[in-house]
Amino acid sequence: MSRLRHHPTEVVLAGYASGALADGPSLTVSAHLDLCPACRSRVALFEQVGGALLADVEQVDMADDALARALAGIERPQPARRASTPVSKSIGGLALPSAVARREIGARRWVGPGIWVAPIKSNAADGWRTYLMRVPQGVAMPHHGHHGPEFTTVLQGAFVDDNSVFAAGDFGESGEGLEHAPSVHGDSACICLISGQGGIKTSGLMSLVKSFLRV
Ligand SMILES: [Zn+2]
Repeated sequence: MSRLRHHPTEVVLAGYASGALADGPSLTVSAHLDLCPACRSRVALFEQVGGALLADVEQVDMADDALARALAGIERPQPARRASTPVSKSIGGLALPSAVARREIGARRWVGPGIWVAPIKSNAADGWRTYLMRVPQGVAMPHHGHHGPEFTTVLQGAFVDDNSVFAAGDFGESGEGLEHAPSVHGDSACICLISGQGGIKTSGLMSLVKSFLRV
């Protein structure tokens, strides 16, 4: 799918492959991988290389209980899905990526006309906030800054940030200190999967988003 223009960096893909990436960012990467065979290949390569490196390491220094611990990790039963936990296959008319569809997604909270956010429950209390956000066509987000890193995968529509268009499947990474004002591009609403750490600094509309998400 060569139409994708923005991909995770090699560092992010390697972190994903090794399991070092935090839960929320991993979710954004897996949503990108759903639509990007090129990055899937890179991740597969990293997994092979990582496995080979680990095999070398284990020949030299393997703790007595390492195998038992590894097997315990594999065999650990997955928590049963409670009937009260709804599994969202779609939201706002959008079919969700498989990794997201398996997560518990909070109710949509309307922030403004046509604008909503829906928090995604993290598997880890690691300070990352992960959520879906819809912004309608023609809307520019207020200028805002970031206190920490943020990963975004576009699920529907497109947005423009710093003269770059991010369309469905594209992956964006912004670092601490970035200030920007992305706006929706094209003639349909934009829905993004976003995971950020450290929160956002702003006023106006974005402060309302912030209060709903506690980011
Ligand atoms: Zn890619």
